[in-house]
Amino acid sequence: MLGARYAARSLARAASAGQRRFLSIHEYQSVKLLNAYGVPTPKSIAAHTPEEAFDVAKNWGSEDMVIKAQVLAGGRGKGHFDNGFKGGVHLIKGADQAKDYAAKMIGSKLITKQTGAGGRVCNAVMLAEKRDAAHEYYAAVLNDRARQTPVLVTSSKGGMNIEEVAHSDPDAIITTPIDFASGLSHGEALALATKLGFSSDATREKAAAVFEKLYTIFKEKDATQIEINPLTETVDGDVLCMDAKFGFDDNAEFRQTDVFALRDVSQEDPSEVEAQKYGLNFIKLDGNIGCLVNGAGLAMATMDVLKLHGGDPANFLDVGGGATPDTVKKAFEILLSDKKVDAILLNVFGGIMRCDYIAEGVIKATEELQLRVPLVVRLQGTKEQEAKALIKESGLKIYAFDGLDEAAAKAVELSKQQNPPSPVQ
Ligand code: GDP
Ligand code: MN
Repeated sequence: MLGARYAARSLARAASAGQRRFLSIHEYQSVKLLNAYGVPTPKSIAAHTPEEAFDVAKNWGSEDMVIKAQVLAGGRGKGHFDNGFKGGVHLIKGADQAKDYAAKMIGSKLITKQTGAGGRVCNAVMLAEKRDAAHEYYAAVLNDRARQTPVLVTSSKGGMNIEEVAHSDPDAIITTPIDFASGLSHGEALALATKLGFSSDATREKAAAVFEKLYTIFKEKDATQIEINPLTETVDGDVLCMDAKFGFDDNAEFRQTDVFALRDVSQEDPSEVEAQKYGLNFIKLDGNIGCLVNGAGLAMATMDVLKLHGGDPANFLDVGGGATPDTVKKAFEILLSDKKVDAILLNVFGGIMRCDYIAEGVIKATEELQLRVPLVVRLQGTKEQEAKALIKESGLKIYAFDGLDEAAAKAVELSKQQNPPSPVQ
């Protein structure tokens, strides 16, 4: 089914962009979590200003350090800042350089393969001990849908983009299923460390301990993902997590309050953050047709029908069953704040939701917000007649339809016109 596939893909992409649905935390916070479970990392300290970076570096006890931009995105090493400065991870020497590099990073946006063109603002750097790598490995704990168990994914080809390794050398990736309740046994973990090629009895033991503890964290903290890349065997025989990416299950927020307190909204799309305050389920997408729908299923169907007619949704927006004229107005504000939006399609199937509330919100919004784009409306169900009467009386330029197909086709047509003609009511 074209539709379902499209919607699922859009949502997966959108979910990875937003933090709330899949909470991520900064590297310096991940380090604390790892250390609390006895998982070793290079020593590190975060700094929020260049002066703070200077002070941290001055008291470091060594000239050599690593400075790392703290933004919620992978690929920082190969990224660049919007001020032209290249690289979010650098080897540095001394406090003056720490301050200088921190000044180039803090307050600027880091653009990486994962951030999109806009990048993410860097509000802190992490200074880390420089440890020399003998070999870089990859380790991740994830849920495997097909096996219906957690898995430990490892590779001796770490430090690089794991998707590329998976593509060019799939045999270099070892997937180990984990028993949900009992976790990884020490024997399994040790065998894996040996297979991966850790160099000595001591480093194999250390790597095995890391694997076992990563799963303990995954389970106890309701993580959906823990990715360590690189997991480094150092020249002096340590096994250290040198980068960590965590994802946590939103449904566990109620019992993971300490983890969820680490949420950093500066790393999220401001319109998504605003929408959440009003209980709106909003995800920004790449297209130019704003969608306002009640119900997640209907929202997906709406996006699919738009796509079927050659259009491209600008967002996923489910106002839910309990929307009031005020929340509908807020939803409109959010849609209209996106300059990419060339037309809006409102698709409401009134069950619990009352169509007249929606109409009232729409009318309020169009009157107050100076609707600059055409609005196509399809209202069906509870209080439909009242809603239609309200729209008619308002005298506003609104294209009203009974069928979703016609409404979607019109929205697509209008979104493709620079100057749409006057509507017929
Ligand atoms: P990413 O680009 O966002 O994945 O950032 P990483 O934290 O993985 O840093 C990029 C690369 O810098 C890593 O693959 C390592 O090779 C190197 N690196 C990161 N942290 C350290 C560290 O603490 N010490 C040393 N020596 N190298 C590091
Ligand atoms: Mn990395």
